[in-house]
Amino acid sequence: MLSKRLDVITPSRTVGISSKVKEMKAQGIDVLNLSVGEPDFNVPEKAKECGIKSLNDNITKYDLVPGLTILREEISKKLLEENNCHYAPDEIVVTSGAKMALTNTLMAVTDPGDEVLLVKPYWVSYSEMTKLVNAVPVGIETDKANDFKLTGELLEKYITEKTKMLILNNPCNPTGAIYTKEELLDICNVCLKHNIYILADEIYERICFNDEFVSVASLSDEIRDITITINGFAKSAALTGTRLGYSATPRELAKNISAIQGHLVSHPCLAAQYIGYGALKYCKDDIDNMVEAYRKRRDLVTARLDKIENLDYIYPQGAFYVFIDILKVKDKFEYKESLSSDFCDKFLEEYKVAIVPGIAFGIDEYVRISFACSEETFIEALDRLDKFVQGIL
Ligand code: PLP
Repeated sequence: MLSKRLDVITPSRTVGISSKVKEMKAQGIDVLNLSVGEPDFNVPEKAKECGIKSLNDNITKYDLVPGLTILREEISKKLLEENNCHYAPDEIVVTSGAKMALTNTLMAVTDPGDEVLLVKPYWVSYSEMTKLVNAVPVGIETDKANDFKLTGELLEKYITEKTKMLILNNPCNPTGAIYTKEELLDICNVCLKHNIYILADEIYERICFNDEFVSVASLSDEIRDITITINGFAKSAALTGTRLGYSATPRELAKNISAIQGHLVSHPCLAAQYIGYGALKYCKDDIDNMVEAYRKRRDLVTARLDKIENLDYIYPQGAFYVFIDILKVKDKFEYKESLSSDFCDKFLEEYKVAIVPGIAFGIDEYVRISFACSEETFIEALDRLDKFVQGIL
């Protein structure tokens, strides 16, 4: 009796693991949670104050579908000053989380049967969102030696006449890899040549440790014309539960995305939008401090991982994850269908640490840990990972 759509999607694994951790905690089990990509910082005070003030001022009635004008003006300014991207406020649509910006876009751009290219390993929801709009996700196999990054040459091999869009996540969840300007140009020129959209998910753009971050839409006017820039407040400003994101696109596409959103949610919660406004306008220092904390954690996590024998990993340049190679345990670890799933299940069961199997990102020989938690938590968790791995080998 239910839609066939449900036959092809799998519930989000990261959300599933988080729910399991919550259940275990409710039963009094002390679990270390390195599964979730959720900053452990509180919402910055000034941002909170803006949300509270909006409620006290009774700004609670229906408002503009693409989002509050003052918020879109602030986003437009941010995109210009920080990312060198020119987007007018009427080219921005504020959404309930970046997830919604992604889904709105997929609905606005794809038709059933269109192919959407994803770079493996890819964030869990891209493939499922693509299927939900009846388009077809196509995973691009990338090379570990190149930190699983896409190249123009590789992209060429996957383009067919049905290809409508490439989703490029930079910095990448789960690897933390960051593309240089030259690497982006190489990819974008192929998209221009074949006239395919680039959905640039730049939600981790503020959390960038070494390289200068380059936005796709800043590369040239031509590239901007085929790009949908996606960003959000969850990762950079610790506003996960506030559910706030946005898309920035050429005007005509923004109008269409807005038309879709008008029927789905109208606009995101106004108090949430005021919190986002406050975060952009008044909380740059708080955000910088959080990024600095992630940088220190990245250094600590990788220093500890370096001491674990037989585990390789991709050195993260951005975001707050490490993608760890568990291939070396493969021959000695008994598993049924998925190495990474069974590895994570057993690790959770025996050592009470939650991490995410690589299969959720399309690559089974890896697991992902998040260091958006406290130092104490990840150091203890890595001690346990060390024991678990050495116990298998
Ligand atoms: N894009 C990527 C790459 C993510 O990792 C996430 C969240 O984990 C999102 C989008 C969704 O962000 P939001 O919480 O703003 O919907």
